[in-house]
Amino acid sequence: MRHFPVFMDLRGRRVIISGAGETDVEKLRLLLKTEATIAVYGVDPVQQVRQWAEERRIALFNRPIEEGDAICAAMLYGANDAPREDARAVAIGRRAGAITNIVDNLEDSQFITPAIVDRDPVTVAIGTEGAAPVLARKIKADLEERLPSSLGLLARIGQAFRPNAEALPMGRARRRFWSRFYFEKGPRALADNGQDAAQRVLEDLLTEEKAPRQERGHVSFVGEGPGDPELLTLKARRVLHEADVVIHDRLASPEVLELARREAKLREVGKTGFGPSWKQADIDALIIAEAQAGHHVVRLKSGDPSVFGRLDEEISALDATDIPWEVVPGITAASAAAADLGASLTRRGRNAELRVITGHDASGFAEHDWRDLAKPGAVAAIYMGLRASTFIRGRLLMHGADPDTPVTAVENASRADRRIVATCLADLPEALAGAGLQGPAVLMFGLAPHAARQTAEHLKINPETHALQAAGGSL
Ligand code: SAH
Repeated sequence: MRHFPVFMDLRGRRVIISGAGETDVEKLRLLLKTEATIAVYGVDPVQQVRQWAEERRIALFNRPIEEGDAICAAMLYGANDAPREDARAVAIGRRAGAITNIVDNLEDSQFITPAIVDRDPVTVAIGTEGAAPVLARKIKADLEERLPSSLGLLARIGQAFRPNAEALPMGRARRRFWSRFYFEKGPRALADNGQDAAQRVLEDLLTEEKAPRQERGHVSFVGEGPGDPELLTLKARRVLHEADVVIHDRLASPEVLELARREAKLREVGKTGFGPSWKQADIDALIIAEAQAGHHVVRLKSGDPSVFGRLDEEISALDATDIPWEVVPGITAASAAAADLGASLTRRGRNAELRVITGHDASGFAEHDWRDLAKPGAVAAIYMGLRASTFIRGRLLMHGADPDTPVTAVENASRADRRIVATCLADLPEALAGAGLQGPAVLMFGLAPHAARQTAEHLKINPETHALQAAGGSL
């Protein structure tokens, strides 16, 4: 991030604009929303600028800016559309200690003006570091549509009530109070019955929240999905946002953790990799302690919590207490990997059964019904199978599996850095070692990538565009 977004207090501060043409009008329109004292220097001012001057909303000087004009200014804009004049103006501003911007000139500007969605006092500033103005405009348009125009009014009503809300203890009760006002009761009251009704809602809510209530913690076991934040369920998103404490594994995706509130406590309980490893009993104890302290605990688990996620063990630990819990399912790695392959996990006439198995269990390499898996057409998603691949190949070949059975490893399924290694049973360990897979990977036994995608992987080209080409651009 080259530009750090901040909101600057311009009450009573001077803002200077050099240039009085159309470019100036655009910036003035934004600056006039503030309480700054604005001075414009420029010859030939356009009609709008003259009008604002007549209305005394700005001070207009019908001449180029001079040394000394920018004294005590907070900001100075060069808006002449003339590089030399802008450079001269900016030099004057900098000597006077103002921060400076030349309109549409990122390199020579000390700050940039974001796209703004104005629901004062709620203000959204959108910046793309100059990289994608079209994107900023699109985001602005989306937000303009999404944020009701009454939002500002609601926030102002809320703002005036803030001192009263301090009667509530900090933290959970206060958060719940505001959240109920802004998201449940306030908008409806304001829309139906106006400002006074919204005000009454605040008073009623305050009385309700002041009534003593037993804070009771609870636990949500939430499936994070395979890593792509778009593959989170809406429910998982909401629950994450409401959590006081998020207990997650080492591999939790940073984009997903971002969805937690800023005040939420994030606790990593990694069980692999470097550093101290958490024992299951300690994780159980942590979940219980946080919930008993009255917190809403999210226990975030990759994929689906019920697939190789020790969900049962953590639920059993909670059963010994009276802490309520729920499970929010997620997309498991096998589903994500199948999607990446463009392959179906089941197919009429090939497999009416899908196995979800692990390469490892508590006692080492895991044993399975190999004879059944070795049958033609069998499909299995093998989790935690990388290090067991030699063992798995041996067992399957010994039980009569076809050495040519396709096996496809999908590493980091659904993520931008996913890798697909397509091979066959006979070559499995060598192919995996050759590819040097590091990340979490699932072995899709009995599945090959969809033909177009497979070619793409071998050619090391983008499978998406290749799939398009293969289908003659008709996908
Ligand atoms: N509950 C998880 C599985 C946890 S066990 C789920 O439902 O997906 C951990 C194993 O899951 C990893 O060793 C790997 O085999 C698999 N896995 C998890 N995320 C993955 C991903 N993004 N891509 C491929 N495999 C993944």
